Amino acid sequence: MSPRNSTELLNSKMGRRSFLKMGALTSVGAVAVCSASEPIVKATPQQLKEAYPGSKKVKTICTHCSVGCGIIAEVKDGVWVRQEVAQEHPVSLGGHCCKGADLIDKVRSTNRLRYPTVKKDGVWERIGWDEALDSVSAQIQALQKKYGPDSIMMLGSAKVSNEQSYYIRKFAAFMGTNNIDHQARI
Ligand code: SF4
Repeated sequence: MSPRNSTELLNSKMGRRSFLKMGALTSVGAVAVCSASEPIVKATPQQLKEAYPGSKKVKTICTHCSVGCGIIAEVKDGVWVRQEVAQEHPVSLGGHCCKGADLIDKVRSTNRLRYPTVKKDGVWERIGWDEALDSVSAQIQALQKKYGPDSIMMLGSAKVSNEQSYYIRKFAAFMGTNNIDHQARI
């Protein structure tokens, strides 16, 4: 059976909601792999009952792309501590992709970049924002001086809004180039 026929068969036997739920289960598997560096411990009966006493659940949406899947963010003392799938969300219907499945990692990951760093003699060092911006702008200017304005390009993102896209476009024009694209197209 060709892949095309397989897809047609799948679509004929599986509704959108079921398919999205299957996607959510697949995402959970991906999360387990992504979080392999964190120890997995057995929850206590109290944790199973109420892991974060006094927390509140906030309905929000994933910001990783313009689909806008539903996320339930559990917040305790102003800190996002856990997330759940928003089963009744009108867009995602209880499913989301692997990016949204671990959206919380965006804020709690130990790999999160919290400040500018630069590699000096093979070692990453923290630097200030002024130094970072001066360094980047100096390198852009040097490139454009040597190779012309089209030696640089700007990439958008699935995470930026219409307004941010507008600013990126304006900034590219300001820099004298039409080299602009969306990261998803590459
Ligand atoms: S969960 Fe995936 S598909 Fe849904 S908004 Fe986030 S990135 Fe987009």
